[in-house]
Amino acid sequence: MKMSKLFVQTLREYPNDAEAISHKLLVRAGFIKKLANGIYTYMPLAQRVLTKISNIVREEMNSSGAQELLMPFVQPAEIWQKSKRWQVYGKELLRVKDRHDVDMCLAPTHEEVITTVVGEVVNSYKQLPVNLYQIQTKFRDEIRPRFGLLRGREFIMKDAYSFHTSQEDLEREYKVMGDTYTRIFNRCGLETKAVQSDSGAIGGNVSHEYMVLVDTPTGENDVFYCENCNYSANSNHAQSILLNETTDGGFEKEEIVDTPNTKTIEELAKFLNTKPECILKAVAYIADSKPVIAMIRGDKEIEETKLLNALQALEIRPMENDEIVKYLNSAPGFISYLGVDKNKVKVLFDKTASGMKNFVIGANIKDKHIVGKNLEEGIEFVDISTVKEGELCPCCKKPLKVTKGIEVGNIFQLGTKYSQPMQACYTDPEGQLKPFIMGCYGIGVSRTMAAAIEKYHDDFGIIWPKEIAPFHVDIVPVNIDDAQQAKIAYDLYNKLCELNIETVIDDRADRAGVKFKDADLIGFPIRITVGKTISEGLVEFKTRKDGAVSKLTFEEAVKECQKILLN
Ligand code: ATP
Ligand code: MG
Repeated sequence: MKMSKLFVQTLREYPNDAEAISHKLLVRAGFIKKLANGIYTYMPLAQRVLTKISNIVREEMNSSGAQELLMPFVQPAEIWQKSKRWQVYGKELLRVKDRHDVDMCLAPTHEEVITTVVGEVVNSYKQLPVNLYQIQTKFRDEIRPRFGLLRGREFIMKDAYSFHTSQEDLEREYKVMGDTYTRIFNRCGLETKAVQSDSGAIGGNVSHEYMVLVDTPTGENDVFYCENCNYSANSNHAQSILLNETTDGGFEKEEIVDTPNTKTIEELAKFLNTKPECILKAVAYIADSKPVIAMIRGDKEIEETKLLNALQALEIRPMENDEIVKYLNSAPGFISYLGVDKNKVKVLFDKTASGMKNFVIGANIKDKHIVGKNLEEGIEFVDISTVKEGELCPCCKKPLKVTKGIEVGNIFQLGTKYSQPMQACYTDPEGQLKPFIMGCYGIGVSRTMAAAIEKYHDDFGIIWPKEIAPFHVDIVPVNIDDAQQAKIAYDLYNKLCELNIETVIDDRADRAGVKFKDADLIGFPIRITVGKTISEGLVEFKTRKDGAVSKLTFEEAVKECQKILLN
């Protein structure tokens, strides 16, 4: 490819609407163009990277026995009503009407279609198991599209769905897919960590996310992990053992006390000469328009994903002050579960409350708390709290660490979540109709491209891992008008192309400095400069990854390319 012909526009400056480095670099290096919020054109350079990632995904999925198909992107509401997700998916599902006034939607995921298809094709247990996948555009009307391709509204996903006759067979395939994912990401030059996760809108019981660990806010997930035993989990799912599971406030008598000007837990603790962990805090929410109080130890916070799951609710939000007065008949800042009508207000106790004795709790009256309180017998505790770094691993009791991660893949054991409501069944050996036992497996193809940049870049631009680089080599003749330089550069170019090495020759009449800048920005793994040293029969060979420069003969340069790229 001649640089003069490559359809690319690099920019001098970073775009001013970008925060994430991958977003900045994808735009500045001419890989993507924004059309609307969260919606981008993949320019030729990006398309080459996406094709490479997709091919790696294909090769590995095929070799693990999955088969590729392609499902419709526009889908009728009917199948979503059947799975009951039409009502529950919320605004991320972009709904449209066709000319006949029929409800349709743009696919955010494909469980409904694949379950319908397999339900129609598979009759007998003899046709199972089967694993089908596609690589396709998805649309999710994300509430906060950001970070460019990391969280777009339109994005490319590989999604696979497997169908089984037993939980054991599903677990076997789940493991196969997990190993396949590790191989796929490794081949893309990315190390990933498989962490336990919440199943979210896709549903099911067991799921793992494949995280690229990064130390920047673009890692939107907090990952807790144990260096001793390999436990790791997304913060929305992580568990821990507290350093001090039991606390005693030491108040001998239960009584109401004045606590003026104590707005925070810390101020209250100081005022009463106690510790936050001796205060039982109440946090009020509205869950699917119903009032809820979550009771939790004062030094801990509510993990809203866990709370949502414990309530089996679709949406939660904090209660407003006027709602606290209305629903709880309480003073904001001083609320507790005591005295609320349990028929009207749902009360949950986090497991951290279970070890508390003689604690402090709101008195439902402004500027007043009760001290020396103890919980009644028979309370059921649930896990609805966040984990903090340093708390102990639930498996081996060693301190947990935390890091940030970008979720590039996700695998789920779905069970019969879709086959049951959609009545997608097969006949077992006894002639009985049984719903399929399903798994599903996603990879964010476009997000993986961005994650690779988050991981591999420097102040000058992108540093592509060679496996997914848009081109391998950039040949830069310092002066294209110099006939001898041009000849050697073209000879080298032809030779590398013959060897199937993807090469660009920068035939533009620009200054060498401009060409070097673009080479670094776009991130070619190898740059070969053809300049004055050709009088000594040498070219300059530079590897992007480490910046190492050497002077090589024409033949040595070709060999070095082969050595670096083809193994
Ligand atoms: P997230 O928690 O980041 O919103 P998700 O868990 O909802 O993602 P899945 O349904 O698990 O996403 O989709 C499978 C994969 O698709 C994800 O692991 C991720 O790599 C990718 N993906 C999901 N949403 C987006 C998005 N808005 N933009 C780009 N890639 C995405
Ligand atoms: Mg996910």
